[in-house]
Amino acid sequence: MKKIKGNSVSNGVAIGKAKIIKKHELYIEHKKIHKSEVKFELSRFNEDVTFVINELDKLIQDYTYSQENRDILESHKMILMDPEFKKKISKFIADDLYNLEHAISTYFTEAADIFSNLNNSYLSHRVSDFEDVAYRLLSHILDERKDILEDVTQNSILIMENITPSFVTKVFEKDIRGLCIERGSRNSHSSIIARSMNLPMLVNTLGLMGNIKDEEDLIIDGNNDYIIISPTKSVLEKYKAIYKREQNVRNGLLKLIDVEPITKDGKKIKLMSNIEIPQEIDQVLKYKSDGIGLFRTEFLFIDSEDLPTEEEQYEIYKKIAEKSAPNPLTIRTIDVGGDKLSNILNIAYEENPNLGCRGIRISLENIPIFKQQIKAILRANIHGNIKIMFPMISGVDELLKVKEIIEICSKELSKGGIPFNADMELGVMIEIPSAVITSDSIAEECDFLSIGTNDLIQYTLAVDRDNQSISDYYKPTHPSMIRSIKLTVDNAHKIGKKVAVCGEMASEKKYVKLLLALGVDELSVSPGRLLIIKKEIIDCNITEMKSKLDRILSCKTSKEVMKLI
Ligand code: PEP
Ligand code: MG
Repeated sequence: MKKIKGNSVSNGVAIGKAKIIKKHELYIEHKKIHKSEVKFELSRFNEDVTFVINELDKLIQDYTYSQENRDILESHKMILMDPEFKKKISKFIADDLYNLEHAISTYFTEAADIFSNLNNSYLSHRVSDFEDVAYRLLSHILDERKDILEDVTQNSILIMENITPSFVTKVFEKDIRGLCIERGSRNSHSSIIARSMNLPMLVNTLGLMGNIKDEEDLIIDGNNDYIIISPTKSVLEKYKAIYKREQNVRNGLLKLIDVEPITKDGKKIKLMSNIEIPQEIDQVLKYKSDGIGLFRTEFLFIDSEDLPTEEEQYEIYKKIAEKSAPNPLTIRTIDVGGDKLSNILNIAYEENPNLGCRGIRISLENIPIFKQQIKAILRANIHGNIKIMFPMISGVDELLKVKEIIEICSKELSKGGIPFNADMELGVMIEIPSAVITSDSIAEECDFLSIGTNDLIQYTLAVDRDNQSISDYYKPTHPSMIRSIKLTVDNAHKIGKKVAVCGEMASEKKYVKLLLALGVDELSVSPGRLLIIKKEIIDCNITEMKSKLDRILSCKTSKEVMKLI
């Protein structure tokens, strides 16, 4: 029996059999091209190599482990930037008329052969580097899409090096027991999705792959942040009992489905759901939330190569709005950038993507795409109760521009005789410190505010939400956060506007009473957390908690805040 430490993304225990998901074999077609195709193959080569170099740059930037690993990635980049590489590939294509895949695989096979025959142990290590680079480049060129979950059974726990948000949704759809990821962080979007689906997942499990074999018994202990490999019989029995207890607690919570989220001292709190993919609407309806407080629309486009058309978006929004009605569906416009889906919009490589062209900036830089989304939302609003919300607003300037674009869209739809409904509440996400500071002015220009604590913590404390190695600095109860939430709520309430919290802070039991005492009107949480949070609301006496508020607001450290709450 072995234990490996990690960081749990969602609480709870999972028991299953290990299934290691590795990179798969690539099929390389060897064929002769026609002379007229040479130019095209060479341009493909340039584009694909640039893409992979950018990808490596991003990995180097994001890499949280060791300098040594970063150096390896740097050396992979050098292989692709070597002028000899370009010269040889160009020769294979232009003179020998090889297709691009054939040219690349020939080059790397020859290079690996040379190094492995050198009889020098240092240089022979370079063989695996060449193989790695070849795999990275060729799998990008071949755009491999093999379904790696094809032969995975339901009692599996998947072991992977890293994971994308789209893969998490596939795992959920297959009803697989859990996930253990060597890299990753608790606040990434893959983790948020796993949590919203109550899917047991451990991230940052360094060294796991080398310590595990397929089909070994595994236990994810999400309550204590570790994985147990080949547990003894008695440990397995103990965890089976814990698992059963957890199921009983979950079943017990189901009794709260029809209970209103009203605090002990009689305040009704709106309890909404966050969704990422349309299928989650079924969970929203099952747990009877007060509506959808955040629909992260960028995840709709997760598997698509092209952006969805206005018509495609309209159909999706319409369906969800109809199902959610009369409760609201709050649609947040695309928030790509940072760790999110930069591939679909062809965003140029950025040194600091989280400070780059993301959120509303992407929409304002790509007006035709933004207009498509706005028009689809305006049209779908005929079929339900839609609110629209904008991400990463830094101040009133952007908000005014956005409102202007909504006006233009309405006019264009009218002119084209296309039915729509512009009677729609307009909200702003407060997730940048400048938006907190100017929340009085922002509140005047919109109908409601929604605090995105995930980013607000990241930008207020200057700590990358995706970098697990500095996660100790990511403190939801840092005094600056408490004061930011209070300032935002006070500014909005002064002019009768409501404030929601839709970041992960709202989904964490331990912060619920604090948020309510700070005056937050609505909480929007992962559907999987809805009943747990409802129980917390029902158990909360806001008046009692408010009596501590002055002391909480004058705390100097997050530790002091945690003690008081
Ligand atoms: C947030 O930042 O808190 C938020 C809800 O948005 P996202 O996690 O999608 O960035
Ligand atoms: Mg955000």
